[in-house]
Amino acid sequence: MDRLRQPRPELGDISPYDAKDVRAEVNLSANENPHNLPGELLEKLADRVRFDVPFNRYPDPMATRLRELIAEANGLDAANVLVGNGGDEIILDIILAWGGPGRKLVDMPPTFAMYGIDARMTGTRVVEVPRTPEFEVDGPALMRAVAEQDPDIIVVSNPNNPTGTMTPETLLIDLLEATDALVLADEAYFEFSRQTMRPHMSRHPNLAILRTFSKAFSLAGLRAGYLLADTTVVSELTKVRQPYSVNRFTQVAAELAFRDRVVFEAGVREAMRNRDRLVHGLSQMAEVAVFPSEANYILFRIDQAAAVWRDLLHDHSILVRDFSRTPGLEDCLRVTVGSEEEVDRFLKAMDEIVARKHASAHFGINATANRHLERSGE
Ligand SMILES: *Cc1c(COP(=O)(O)O)cnc(C)c1O
Repeated sequence: MDRLRQPRPELGDISPYDAKDVRAEVNLSANENPHNLPGELLEKLADRVRFDVPFNRYPDPMATRLRELIAEANGLDAANVLVGNGGDEIILDIILAWGGPGRKLVDMPPTFAMYGIDARMTGTRVVEVPRTPEFEVDGPALMRAVAEQDPDIIVVSNPNNPTGTMTPETLLIDLLEATDALVLADEAYFEFSRQTMRPHMSRHPNLAILRTFSKAFSLAGLRAGYLLADTTVVSELTKVRQPYSVNRFTQVAAELAFRDRVVFEAGVREAMRNRDRLVHGLSQMAEVAVFPSEANYILFRIDQAAAVWRDLLHDHSILVRDFSRTPGLEDCLRVTVGSEEEVDRFLKAMDEIVARKHASAHFGINATANRHLERSGE
């Protein structure tokens, strides 16, 4: 054969998750912790690996020790906890188990792209309930969609990635009262927002809460996330999940990080300080509109955002996330709250870019063309 058969038709509507591997000196694009694991934890991890981790053996499928630690910290039983290969794997597991052909997921864009991607990939119908212009969940529209569409899964990123918006607890409680659909509260940024739906789990077996080790816990590179949910939800998910998805190394590292989680508190406080500095710095720039955020990233709007993104990368080696082609996020960029030095460098770069845009506008040349002229003169 000199041909390749087409894959499933659903894939035609899907663009790959845009995790661009662009090299930059300062990466503020993926909401990671700017610091690696603290040295003391790296030492403990090295010791464990040297003496106590048989890499020749398959890992514990359910990550029992980690699961017990997480359960205890949240006042739950181990049977209420599922550990996954990043929160992303658990999102897919939920959609595999509660979605699929003939089933519906309510998505509230603009939001985290994986919900819609996983739904389309599994043949789950996506019912979109767009957020308001301020990026808040549209309560009345959501309740209407629940009543009219009878969805199977409803996902709320809380705080919402990439806008930083929290959804009022009262609205989520109304939602839980109104439906028996699985309601996933994605609390990937819980350590920053410090707000959780956890107290409502006992009354609402349809509430599931997603958390991750990738953000506050500095472990994005090892892939670990967890779900807090009713025991029925957890046991259904074990039917669809990949049994060995969380490897031994990750299990050990996540256990050590979770046991010593107080050491990440300083990083969270540092992020809060730097977030304030970022918001303050950006709001000084007349051409920038900053959206309030409860997480470790900030969304902002600026004219010709795609050109600003390019200038940040090419002229300053700073990578932020470009959302300017995402519906509802036209001219928006998202910047992760980095270290103090990274924030300084980003704000200085933005000052320069904005100043140059001013100068170009003054001469009636757009910033990109201007840069092009400078380049060709080099
Ligand atoms: C980062 C993130 C996740 C999970 O990320 P993992 O690295 O897969 O654990 C889930 N939801 C949202 C909204 C996120 O931003």
